[in-house]
Amino acid sequence: MTGDTLREECGVSGIWGHPHAVTLTHYALYALQHRGQESAGIAAACSGDDGLKLHRGLGLVAEVFGEETLESLRGDCAVGHVRYATTGNTSLRNAQPLVVRLKSTSLGLAHNGNLTNAARLRRCLEGRGSIFQSTSDTEVIAHLTARARSDEMGASLLEALQEVRGGYAMVALTPGQLFAARDPAGIRPLCLGKLGDGWMVASETCALDTAGATFVRDVAPGELLRIDDEGLTSLRITGKAPSALCIFEYIYFARPDSNLEGHNVHQVRKELGRLLAMDHPVDADVVSGVPASSLSAATGYAEQAGIPYEMGLVRNRYIGRTFIQPGDELRKLGVRLKLNPLRKVVEGRRVVLVDDSIVRGTTSKILVELLRAVGAEEIHLRISSPPYRYPCYYGIDTSSKGELIAAGRTVEEIRAIVGADSLAYLDEDRVAEAAGGTRSDFCTACFDGDYPVPPEETDEDCFGEVD
Ligand code: SF4
Repeated sequence: MTGDTLREECGVSGIWGHPHAVTLTHYALYALQHRGQESAGIAAACSGDDGLKLHRGLGLVAEVFGEETLESLRGDCAVGHVRYATTGNTSLRNAQPLVVRLKSTSLGLAHNGNLTNAARLRRCLEGRGSIFQSTSDTEVIAHLTARARSDEMGASLLEALQEVRGGYAMVALTPGQLFAARDPAGIRPLCLGKLGDGWMVASETCALDTAGATFVRDVAPGELLRIDDEGLTSLRITGKAPSALCIFEYIYFARPDSNLEGHNVHQVRKELGRLLAMDHPVDADVVSGVPASSLSAATGYAEQAGIPYEMGLVRNRYIGRTFIQPGDELRKLGVRLKLNPLRKVVEGRRVVLVDDSIVRGTTSKILVELLRAVGAEEIHLRISSPPYRYPCYYGIDTSSKGELIAAGRTVEEIRAIVGADSLAYLDEDRVAEAAGGTRSDFCTACFDGDYPVPPEETDEDCFGEVD
């Protein structure tokens, strides 16, 4: 998937009790770079320090951190963040971690996801005198923590998190403690690892691997972990709720070498492709995937269908985000800048093109045109997920419903718009099956509109416990 993409949310990481905490957090952010490319930051401390040292900036991890800044951040505990702006615009004051002074210590906070009641909580907090420095949801959590009745940081964070709704994975650091929390439905992923004598948490297991940590377990939905010199303590934000991990983490967001809830992302994607070939076979000469997120599904499709897999599109890996160009011709060149069809592979052949999803449809239409222009005889588009019909409220930047090509359209209507010879999607049950569960185990709201957490905040009250 490229161009008119869903934008990854953010990535978080935290390390406790390791002499190279800053360097390893830096490495972890590289591993999580696919989850956010607009800003990066690290807050660090030596346990027992008075304050936290912070560096954050706009851009990629490589652009934000140099040797000198990393030197200045020395510590044995750290939290890091890469951000794609989901709430709050792209500016340095919205970059994370956010470091605040409260309850006689410093607190560094970073989160991935979106709080569905943040706007209401912000209004309530402002009405009671809180002054906000940024437009990010993270600051709402900081203000709620400051207002909590307890002086103990774990209890205060717990109180704050009991007020917020939505999908999130959060890390927080004081010079004495590291915290990690996951929303009660477990929409956003977060895992725990052992790093020497210390601990590590991260959005994805690929970050644990990169830092040399050993995976211990996923942070449970609704769990707040507190890690300090006493060891690791598990606190509950809420009672057990039905879990609803974002199914799109498997389909597109997570790195193929990550494991989520015990399932490897590459293998799940390959299975998606295999099921797609079983449910929607077609006579063809070659199978290709849209790089890079659809390659695993394309190999699964090819294997199951017994059709050779070939690289029909070559991706320029040095292109970051491109601005959406006005006008059809420039837009087409913008896609071509990223993806170039391989004439020798597709010319005179019937091509199955596997993609993980179609959002607005503009890129799919251009890819079909590009493949036809280099001589593809037929193009059969196969999508390894169901039609994307509803917006996400849990930290994924989707287009508004009006821009989603599948909203209110049949598959045949979408096929006609993108210009493929045939088009087929995998259904929700099959996607859940590939991820080792049933539909009720996952958030599938962008396909079926069944939101695990109400997207609209209707409660008129401000806060219960905190006020
Ligand atoms: S609505 Fe879709 S993208 Fe958003 S959390 Fe649910 S499955 Fe993921």
